[in-house]
Amino acid sequence: MLHHDFRRFLDALDELNPAQIEDAQTKIRDLRRKTEAISEIEARTNQEHKCPFCGDERRQKWGRTRTKVQRYRCGGCQKTYSGRTGSAIGRIHRPDLFMVALRDMLGTSAPQSVRKLAKRLGLNKYTVWRWRMLVFSIIGEGAATAFSGIIEADETYQRESRKGSREWARHFADPQNIPQPPRPRWEDFTTQGLKMMRGLSRWQLPILTVADRSGARLFQRLANRKGATLERAMNPLVPGDAVLCSDGANGYAKLATASGIEHFVVGSKPGTRVAAGCYHIQNVNSLHAQYNKFIKPFCGPATKNLNGYIRWLEVRLGGALPADIIRTS
Ligand SMILES: [Zn+2]
Repeated sequence: MLHHDFRRFLDALDELNPAQIEDAQTKIRDLRRKTEAISEIEARTNQEHKCPFCGDERRQKWGRTRTKVQRYRCGGCQKTYSGRTGSAIGRIHRPDLFMVALRDMLGTSAPQSVRKLAKRLGLNKYTVWRWRMLVFSIIGEGAATAFSGIIEADETYQRESRKGSREWARHFADPQNIPQPPRPRWEDFTTQGLKMMRGLSRWQLPILTVADRSGARLFQRLANRKGATLERAMNPLVPGDAVLCSDGANGYAKLATASGIEHFVVGSKPGTRVAAGCYHIQNVNSLHAQYNKFIKPFCGPATKNLNGYIRWLEVRLGGALPADIIRTS
């Protein structure tokens, strides 16, 4: 809008009656939500203040991009850039809709399925899926967590999943040359009435959960169910003066003995969960309940993406805001 048109628009606001003021306010609020992504991206450039190509800090405003983000021209290399240049979200065509998807991922209510969200936003489901994977790559591994005092630890399990893999289709197409995959598909246990056979537990992937009383928490996938693996994962997490509470599995007991940590063993069955007073694993049990509730709607995410889902839950529990994600992108 031209400057003098804008002045006239502001002057016209004086003529509004109370009901119109309400309407205008609602309209402005909607617009603000829409441009939130853009404001966050611009905040990011102002924070950096450097040309992404040559690092020069001299710049001048150089119009706006098609998505209305402030563009700058570098005083050094003369290239133009915006806050999105070089960022992980730089190539997203609809930052406003990406923001809606991001808000959905981090909101207090359960996230919507990719399909539903895509429908709501009028987008292709693969676009929304790619955005989710993009957020996974931004939130990455997360910083190391430090635990102290009374530390609770326990594992939960997630069924291995090859969702999206074509291994069975390939085997049936060419049974002579393509060997049968190592286990039946999970759905065949129900649809074909297959009996759950021995040895299936190795397809349940352990996820170690650790929490202390100050609110520090961690979910970490373990490579296998061996005690040594558990011990190795726990070792850097538990300082020597901590008190460990666990269900007494081998790895915990060995770690406690090896490093001289006080160790309380509590039962994993209801009624035996408290060893004495404050020595319990109810916080990790509650984290497991939250994990199960969170993961269930995804119907067993593909194992190759499981770390992303686990990290997503951590970020949700940590109360991250969409702006935090944009700023680190
Ligand atoms: Zn430059």
